[in-house]
Parts: sequence; C-alpha cells; structure tokens
Amino acid sequence: MSPAHFVLNDVFGYEQFRGSQEAIIEHVIAGGDALVLMPTGGGKSLCYQVPAIVRRDAGKGVAIVVSPLIALMHDQVGALHEAGVDAAFLNSTLDWPSTLDVENRVARGEITLLYAAPERVNTDRFLSLLDGLYQRGQLGLFAIDEAHCVSQWGHDFRPEYRMLTVLHERYPGVPRIALTATADALTRVDIVDGLQLQEARQFVSSFDRPNIRYTIVEKKEPLTQLLKFIQNEHPGDAGVVYCQSRKRVEELAQALSHAGITALPYHAGLSSDVRQQNQDRFLREDGIVMTATIAFGMGIDKPDVRFVAHVDMPKNIEGYYQETGRAGRDGLPADAWMVYGLNDVVNQRRMIDESPATEEFKRIMRGKLDALLGLAEATDCRRVRLLAYFGEHSEPCGNCDNCLHPPEVWDGTDAARKLLSTIYRVHEASGISFGTGHIMDIVRGKDTDKVRQFGHEKLSTFGLGTEYSEPQLRGVLRQLLATGAVGLQKVMLESGHSFDTLSLTSGSRAVLRGEQPVQLREAMAGAGKRTRKKSG
Ligand code: ADP
Ligand code: ZN
Repeated sequence: MSPAHFVLNDVFGYEQFRGSQEAIIEHVIAGGDALVLMPTGGGKSLCYQVPAIVRRDAGKGVAIVVSPLIALMHDQVGALHEAGVDAAFLNSTLDWPSTLDVENRVARGEITLLYAAPERVNTDRFLSLLDGLYQRGQLGLFAIDEAHCVSQWGHDFRPEYRMLTVLHERYPGVPRIALTATADALTRVDIVDGLQLQEARQFVSSFDRPNIRYTIVEKKEPLTQLLKFIQNEHPGDAGVVYCQSRKRVEELAQALSHAGITALPYHAGLSSDVRQQNQDRFLREDGIVMTATIAFGMGIDKPDVRFVAHVDMPKNIEGYYQETGRAGRDGLPADAWMVYGLNDVVNQRRMIDESPATEEFKRIMRGKLDALLGLAEATDCRRVRLLAYFGEHSEPCGNCDNCLHPPEVWDGTDAARKLLSTIYRVHEASGISFGTGHIMDIVRGKDTDKVRQFGHEKLSTFGLGTEYSEPQLRGVLRQLLATGAVGLQKVMLESGHSFDTLSLTSGSRAVLRGEQPVQLREAMAGAGKRTRKKSG
C-alpha cells in the first residue's frame, strides 16, 4: 500500500480515492506543482491534506495552507484534530499568547498543517517564520485554497492573493498546490499568471453535478413563485434563496416566515453576531431556508441543502454555478431554481455600465453576463450550456427543465422586427429615445398620454403588433437585450432621476433581416406561431 493510501485509510477512514485525487496527491508528494480545478464537494481538501501528512512523515516539514475563510479554517483544523493530525491556524481571531504558542510549535516542528489567512502570509513576521523553516529544510508544501481569489475578474477577488507569488520567489523548490472550484478559462489563465503556476500540472475534473436539476423560469411574481416552488417541491427542506439587495433579503425572510417557512436572513449589513447565529442555525437545524446575498455560502459545508433558488440573476455563470453548487453536496437529488426577467437584464447591464471600473473590465463583465443570459434564454439543455462554458462537452442531460419538459417555443422574429422598427422610428421622429414601456405601448397601439404628447400614434409602426400580449413583447425585448440586439442607454433628467432607454445596435440588423432567430418559450396561451421544439 502506498503511503498516500495508508494515510487515506488510517487517518481519514476512507477506502478509495475519488476521481483524480490519487493522481494529484502522488504528483504533489513527489514535489510537483499542481493546479486543481474541481467542483465544490469534489474532495479538494484531501488533495493537500494527504500530501501534507505524507511529506511530514518523510521528514519534509510543515505544510502551509493559505485560506481566505476563517470559519473554514476553524472547521478544518477541528476536523484534523479529531483525526489525530497536528494542525493549527494563524488568523486575527487568536490573541497574542495563542499566536506566539502556535508560532513556537511550528518552529519546533510540531505542526503538520498550518492554516493562515493570505494577509498574514504577507507579513514580515510570518515570512521570517517561514525563512527559519526553509533554511532547515522544514517547509514541506504550500497549498493555496480558493485560488480564484487571485483573479480580479471574479467576485471573490482578494488583492492579498496577488502577493502570494512571494512563496514561489522566496522558497523555490517547495511544491505548491492551488485549488479552486471556479474553472472558466479566463480565471484559469489568471490563476496561472497571478500565482506563477506556469510549470504546474493542471488537473481538471468534470464540473458536472448530475444530481442537481436546473430550472430557469420567467419572473412574474417572484415571491409567489418562490413560495409555490418551496411549498410544492421542498416542504421542510433546507435551502438557500439568493437575491441582490440586503433589503430584499430581509423582506424575503419575513415573507417566507409569514408563510410558515423557517427562514433566516444573511447579508453583510447584519452584525457579525447575527450572521454567525443564523449560519449556525442553518448548519445545525433541519429545514432552515437562508435568504441571502452572495455574502453567504463560500466555505459553507452543509451536505443536505436540497435547493438553491435565485430570485435575482447573478452576475455571471461562475457565480451561478458556485451558488447553485451549494445544493446537493451529499449527492442526493437537489434543485437549482431561478426566476429571470427583463429587469434582471436591465439591472445587470446597468450595474456594469455604472461601475467605476475600466473599460476593459466592463467589456469582460459584459461578456460574462452575456454568457449567463444565453443560458437563461436557452430552450435546449441547460447542463450542456453550463458545462460548455467550462470547456466540457456533454449530451442533453435529462435532468433540467428543458430536457424534462421540452418547451413549446414560438417564433418571436416578427414581434422583434416590430419592436426594433419602433425603436428606430421613435428616435427618428422625436430625436430622443424611450424606455421599454413606451415602446411596447406603441407597438400594441395603446392610447396613452405619453403617446399623444409625442404624437407617436402617427408613427407607421403604431398598433402594428396588437396581436401580441404585453408579456410576450416583454419576453421578446428581454431576449433582444440579452443577445445584444437592443442596447440600453441611460438618460439623466434635470431632476436628477434617470431612466433607461432602448437603442438599436450593430446586432439589430441580423434580427431585422431574419438572420438571428428569436425563439421564445411559450409562457401562456397567446399569439405567435407555435412550433414544437424537439429535444436533443
Ligand atoms: P471541496 O473542498 O472540493 O468542496 P471537500 O474536500 O470538502 O470538498 O470534500 C467534500 C466531502 O467529500 C467531504 O465530506 C469529504 O470528507 C468527502 N470526501 C473527500 N474525498 C473522499 C474520499 N476519497 N472518500 C470519501 N469521502 C471523501
Ligand atoms: Zn438538460
């Protein structure tokens, strides 16, 4: 039996390595650098814990684990103690005497795994501790967890991660293993560059989570839809509901509680006591629903989360994947459910436009948002799309909304042409642009004050689309925005208020010419040509 296998059985009590664990572990034990891309729940911790123990037993010294999450550090060190492994952590929660004690034990060679926050690693005091170990050949391994934090394009960006190259520069020859559950190509490039892992072998696991059923539905009345979803599909189950704002988190927690569901809020605006309390209850008690912003979840290891719901759309596919990935870590069936509507597109686009970021950053953010919008608009297998984003090819899954219930789709090309022509005519006639409501009113031939004020009832496109319902036009506009065939422009009023107006883009032409299909899921019975969409 190999030393690694022995440690797996003897220390952790597991029979077999999973997936690529063994290859990764052997590579690192032999002194190689590794970049590990493995989905949440895939078993990343063992990938550095086993080599740490094997290398220490071989007299190679302590492993330093860089982790950004204090709660996770505590959990892991606690679990390692239980398994009889000498582990410790250095972070801001330790008082001075305890810090000294840990440092002394590390220096004396009594510790196998030392967890440290990234900001700690970059201190002179910590580096001189490492210098001492290195000089005596007692620095066995560096593990960099949550390595995507080095990427400034991700929402977990931590500037201190950029400084971690010091480990490579100052302590050459000590193997490094970087791990993450975020695997899109851009992040991967950033990790390799940002951590100087050009020589590292990359281990990429499949990112498929076959037990998660993906569902994305049109947003109508999100609260009612959410309640129905929980009550019908997940009564009494633990779950997480993500939304954008703190206010919304509080409202949702209240509304769910009102409906008899045990719901707790979690966001960065709550005191750390309340956050801790709510998190502890979520972890310990059964059937708690956490309503949360994205502040919640990183490093939370609760195996039996049965659903993750999004009532607001995340920023990109990485976010969606990470958040939904918190469901079903025990491998049993779980749901990833999202409601998505026109406002999500408008809001996310606006957030990017209004952010103080550089143009390059915005361009990348837009590209990432577009990929998520493509997933949301898709009428074919969600999983195929999701995995394709991570560079994985797959076949229709049979376990997403589109596979399970191939949607009735209608061809929205005609409606799209009418909307686009109206956007054009209105601008031509009035010299200014208008928002979604007014454009739809014109297409539907509605006699409103605003229509009269601008004389828009005289436009050639006025009333051209009376056969379409407002939800239908809204759906078409959403897709046009999602695919970039319509642009958004913010107009500031003298009062200081602003609103979003619609404009044509270079992508509009393809739709007008019928080169880009506009295919919409049939929401309710309504106008439009129906075609049955074949699956596969
Ligand atoms: P990740 O960090 O990739 O999200 P973890 O390291 O927390 O995943 O592992 C997820 C779960 O799988 C943990 O409960 C862990 O103990 C378990 N696990 C990991 N590897 C194995 C294995 N080889 N055999 C059995 N269980 C494993
Ligand atoms: Zn599918």
